[in-house]
Amino acid sequence: MEKVILIKYGELTTKKKNRSYFVKALLDRISSQLKNLNVQIQRDLSRMLIRVDEEHFSQVLEKLQTIFGIHAYNIAYKVLPIEEEITEMVKEVIKSEDFDTFKVEVKRSNKAFPLTSQEFAKVLGGVVLKNSENKRVDVHHPTLTIHVEIRDKEAFIYTNSYKGLGGYPTGVQGTGLLMLSGGIDSPVAGYLAQKRGIKLEAVYFEALPHTSLEAREKVISLARVLAKYQGDVKLHVVPFTKIQEEIYKNGKPDYTITIMRRMMYRIMERLCKKQKAKCIINGESIGQVASQTLSSMKVINAVTNFPVIRPVACLDKLEIMDIARDIGTYDISILPYEDCCTVFVPKHPVINPTLDTCLAIEKNLNFEKLLDEVVENTFVIKVGCEEQEEFKAFL
Ligand code: ATP
Ligand code: MG
Repeated sequence: MEKVILIKYGELTTKKKNRSYFVKALLDRISSQLKNLNVQIQRDLSRMLIRVDEEHFSQVLEKLQTIFGIHAYNIAYKVLPIEEEITEMVKEVIKSEDFDTFKVEVKRSNKAFPLTSQEFAKVLGGVVLKNSENKRVDVHHPTLTIHVEIRDKEAFIYTNSYKGLGGYPTGVQGTGLLMLSGGIDSPVAGYLAQKRGIKLEAVYFEALPHTSLEAREKVISLARVLAKYQGDVKLHVVPFTKIQEEIYKNGKPDYTITIMRRMMYRIMERLCKKQKAKCIINGESIGQVASQTLSSMKVINAVTNFPVIRPVACLDKLEIMDIARDIGTYDISILPYEDCCTVFVPKHPVINPTLDTCLAIEKNLNFEKLLDEVVENTFVIKVGCEEQEEFKAFL
């Protein structure tokens, strides 16, 4: 007898053509997340089997909760596909279960097994009744379901099912660039994008000395939480000060944020091309602030042809905050450091900006050269999921 973990692919299996690609991606993720935990992984097209020693068992279970693409998993006992072995195991398993009613569900892919699934379920039902007191069979709403799967070389017995994170394995959709501020929304947006299989690189617009290095540290801490789900995260730090000052000096006060965001999107587009990323992701939520009305989004979005994914666009702030608490970014996000947007925020930002006005303002700004310079001076901090000295490099 051996205790193992069975991983179900769930949503992955509906994508028939891509299945083996997705399964391979999931295998890579699981192998890399569990690499120091002494596991052996076996896979087929419907599930993966993880063997792990008792010492590392709980650590492995914890890590499984950081892997997208796992729909559900079971902790199962593995025995030989022989009637007596399975029966003994079922007797053993029910000893530690608290239940009134039960059913036995048998799945048999091993056609050499002498009984049909139904026949063997009946036999095992009898075994349970004989080896327990005051229990009843209830095939509709049992308090305990005993699953028995009989395969060619092995049989599995389990009574539990744990929910995984769901979604798609990291990277199956390629890379996306997340605009990561120190706020509550953008880390949540990043997490939801990761769940769809997008591998993230993060971009932080920094306005030193108007913003502090603590604000940068806060963004690094947020990136570290996201790194938990994909290995590590490249954080691109964009020195944005000159552009903001130029807009502040030569723009129209009520359009400051609109123009600033158009500049951010222009830089995002350049970085996407440079990093071969397929989309921009951000934490915009419809109507949350003046720059996130649909009219604002339209004129801001007009500077790029890259898809802009806004995973929290239709969520209420309270819903976003709930996810932030769940994933552990909330407490970091509410630390008090100034963000570059809040430093330059005008008293009355325009709610319905027009493209013509934006273009007229931008004519007076000397921004093309500034954009080149800013992208040139952008540098990368490689953020791992463990707290350690970060590796910094210029692009
Ligand atoms: P958050 O939306 O993350 O809570 P916020 O509310 O301060 O932060 P907004 O002003 O709502 O940010 O900006 C909308 C989105 O624009 C953010 O969710 C983020 O994706 C992006 N963004 C804003 N400021 C920055 C920045 N300094 N660096 C990178 N991205 C930013
Ligand atoms: Mg916001």
